[in-house]
Amino acid sequence: MIFEGLADRLQETFKKLRGHGKLTEDDVKSAMKEVRMALLEADVNFKVVKDFVKRVTERAIGQDVMEALTPAQVVIKIVNEELTELMGGSQSKINMSSQPPTIIMMAGLQGAGKTTSAGKLGLALKKQGKRPVLVAADIYRPAAVTQLQVIGKQLNIPVFSMEPGTDAVTIAKSSLNYAFTHANDVVIIDTAGRLHINEELMQELKDIKREVKPHEILLVVDAMTGQDAVNVAESFNKDLELTGLVLTKMDGDSRGGAALSVKAVTGCPIKFVGMGEKLEPLQPFHPDRMASRILG
Ligand code: GDP
Repeated sequence: MIFEGLADRLQETFKKLRGHGKLTEDDVKSAMKEVRMALLEADVNFKVVKDFVKRVTERAIGQDVMEALTPAQVVIKIVNEELTELMGGSQSKINMSSQPPTIIMMAGLQGAGKTTSAGKLGLALKKQGKRPVLVAADIYRPAAVTQLQVIGKQLNIPVFSMEPGTDAVTIAKSSLNYAFTHANDVVIIDTAGRLHINEELMQELKDIKREVKPHEILLVVDAMTGQDAVNVAESFNKDLELTGLVLTKMDGDSRGGAALSVKAVTGCPIKFVGMGEKLEPLQPFHPDRMASRILG
């Protein structure tokens, strides 16, 4: 389960703090040392941890906390608020265009879960009464088009593809005409991934962006890769100005370092999370619920 280790460590720390009754500055400082260690062990970015601990400490050793009837409880509340803030504060939703179709471009490295997430996002939107179309613009991985078609069939969502050899920009542009004529109000473009970030990949994504002007550019990153996911997000964001992130494989990530660091490092909110291989609707990311899960 996500945040398993971190949740245990923090709950242990705060249990000790509660046992103290009135708190001294030293009590708070030693608790914050433990919080710092727990976050680092959860693979949270070093600088993010430093800033977080500084903010919490400043608030927690304030006069009104020390003089509160249950100071430990107030400290926990502060940690909860700061964790929520760290993960983006409130839920970030999809920017829906006032004029359909809303164009969503999905990007990501190979294996991150981009194609699966495109399908899951389509399903989530369909359940909200939208009429999405999935666009197979991943033209390099031979099986990618077929994979998207299989997913589309399972979910009963149309898939737009063109004959082999067509370039990705043409496919993306043509899909808009398809959406107009078939009354699809959301276009989800599955772009090509690569094993590593390279110039060619970025150029292709920039070309698609320029030509179709997406309302959303969602980067799909694998939570299990921890700080690598954060670095990938930082790099894509520089080139593409992402509007949001999809954090996949949260079901297999017990540490949670990417979930806790990526917003603070990139400025880009996590909009959705992937919680398994099964084709279920993509789940929105709720920073407050995540924080409460950590603090128990
Ligand atoms: P792409 O190369 O980025 O398009 O990745 P795929 O969508 O093909 O996914 C790669 C693998 O990750 C597949 O085996 C998916 O079933 C799996 N996968 C995708 N999302 C999740 C997730 O949220 N949790 C888990 N456990 N597996 C996932």
